[in-house]
Amino acid sequence: MDCPVCKEPMVVIEHASVEIDYCMKCQGVWLDSGEIELLMGDAQACDAYLCGGKPADNKEAKRRCPICGKKMGKAVTHGVEPVTYDRCVKGDGLWFDKGELEAVLKGGGNVVSDFLREVFPKGD
Ligand SMILES: [Zn+2]
Ligand SMILES: [Zn+2]
Repeated sequence: MDCPVCKEPMVVIEHASVEIDYCMKCQGVWLDSGEIELLMGDAQACDAYLCGGKPADNKEAKRRCPICGKKMGKAVTHGVEPVTYDRCVKGDGLWFDKGELEAVLKGGGNVVSDFLREVFPKGD
């Protein structure tokens, strides 16, 4: 699958039965539909959190879904530090620019630090 930003092939990282696509170039992350729920553990809470924010202001550049090629919509998480991310309008999955997934998982308040440490070893 190609990165929706760089158009270069992403690498697949597998962790705890979740496959994530990661772009080495821009450090963005694609999660197929359902994978964020696996990461966060609770599908219902996850949904409420992920779509609980105010509507996105659409200032960010639109990305195209790496699966269906359609323009993705913006969504904003609930919480003290809302994160704006991209979401396929057809439900293929979610795109997070560099640092966004980490912010989302932290904001969701679950214990995924091991996951993040393993997948994104601190390099910078
Ligand atoms: Zn990229
Ligand atoms: Zn799509």
